[in-house]
Amino acid sequence: MKYIPTIGLEIHAELKTRTKMFCDSRNDPDEDRPNVNICPVCMGHPGTLPVTNKTAVEKATKMSLALNCTVNENSHFDRKHYFYPDLPSGFQISQFEFPLASKGKVEYDLVAADGTISEAGKVCGITRLHLENDAGKLTHRAGKTLCDYNRAGTPLMEIVTEPDLRTSEEAVAFAEELRRMLIAVGASEADMFKGMMRFDASISLREVGTEKLNPRSEIKNLNSFKALEKALQYEEKRLRSEWESTGGPLAGNITVGWLDDEGKTRILRNKENADDYRYFPEPDIPPLVISAEVIAAAKANLPPLPRMQKQHYVDMGLTPSEAQLLTDDTLLCERFTAVYKKSKDAKRASSLVLTQMRGFLNTAGKSMADAPSSAHLLALVSKIEDGTISANASKEVLEAMIESGKDPESIISEKGMAQISDDSELEEIVQKALAANADAVESFKKGKASALGAIVGWIMKETKGQANPGKVQSILQKAIQS
Ligand code: MN
Repeated sequence: MKYIPTIGLEIHAELKTRTKMFCDSRNDPDEDRPNVNICPVCMGHPGTLPVTNKTAVEKATKMSLALNCTVNENSHFDRKHYFYPDLPSGFQISQFEFPLASKGKVEYDLVAADGTISEAGKVCGITRLHLENDAGKLTHRAGKTLCDYNRAGTPLMEIVTEPDLRTSEEAVAFAEELRRMLIAVGASEADMFKGMMRFDASISLREVGTEKLNPRSEIKNLNSFKALEKALQYEEKRLRSEWESTGGPLAGNITVGWLDDEGKTRILRNKENADDYRYFPEPDIPPLVISAEVIAAAKANLPPLPRMQKQHYVDMGLTPSEAQLLTDDTLLCERFTAVYKKSKDAKRASSLVLTQMRGFLNTAGKSMADAPSSAHLLALVSKIEDGTISANASKEVLEAMIESGKDPESIISEKGMAQISDDSELEEIVQKALAANADAVESFKKGKASALGAIVGWIMKETKGQANPGKVQSILQKAIQS
């Protein structure tokens, strides 16, 4: 029997704001002292009043527009109740019936292992984007549980997709594109390691030739692209064999957890219905009203999105994988852009920054954080352009820049690498060359043009490759013909 998986994702992304979603406690993911960024509001004390964070709404609006969603001029907050020690108020403030944004779509490319695009312009629908606040963090240690509420009340976006994905590769490629978009619009730092972007993935199977969506398994709390991929692959296989043994799909929706260390899922519960959360309108927060003008202005000010940027680099003549590298790494992009602006040559800029610089960084076991500054790279380009060093010698200089962190001028002078471009100095060398290569001069005069090459070779050897080859040619021609 052939089955087709149907996959949908829920993505939680932490918004990059100074303060929390409904109070002025700091939203600082890097704070490692527990329970310092808390106040009566985010601790859910009775009698406190939440106030909506305007920046969080603005950033979520931008992200909604990037997702091609309709931003709803009127939305409102609801209380979602559940009891767990990481949730001091006993309910999460979320948006249920009237989310901030609805009905969008994201285009993404499927990328093969070698970095080439195997399928471009795939589409995944977005059901909704809503705002909510995050819970605290629990640490289980030696039979005890420690509660840290620094994260409690920090702003979150929940993005829900349509069940448009068919494979774990598609799910990962889509999630990666979403992450690029979060960063590009400045909505979230989306640092997976810090848990700023987390996934729940739903998967169900249906028989080929049927349209009916069967009950699904929802995999909770996937914290990396790797976990997303492996969990979906595992659950698909498990659902297939379950279908084979029971003769049908799941009887009802289930919720499973992904055990990263063991590489398998574990059934947590039969999925609760919305009823179980006892959603009701949040009485302490007025409806969220965003005017059409504000939405239009946000749309007009949207920065270029990653896929557009990528296309822009491809149009400049770069390969899709080079374009992807630049889109994914802001530091790399900054260096490339600086060099490109000066040289106006995308191929040359990519050769210097993407091939040579990245290569030397790799060999030296260094990261982009240790890369030469744009100013140093531009100084290196100047030294090639003004003839101080040859393009070939520039590689040695670049490698030394990465090793030592020094600027190109110091390296060129320390290594005595400067090209000899001074006319009188070159004329002197040419005269010496003519005297030392009388035979070659003779054959050149008799019409053997290639003899000139032998003389140039002698000069380059004599000057340890530092004579400016272009100038040597022209001075030599003049001297030999006079
Ligand atoms: Mn949520």
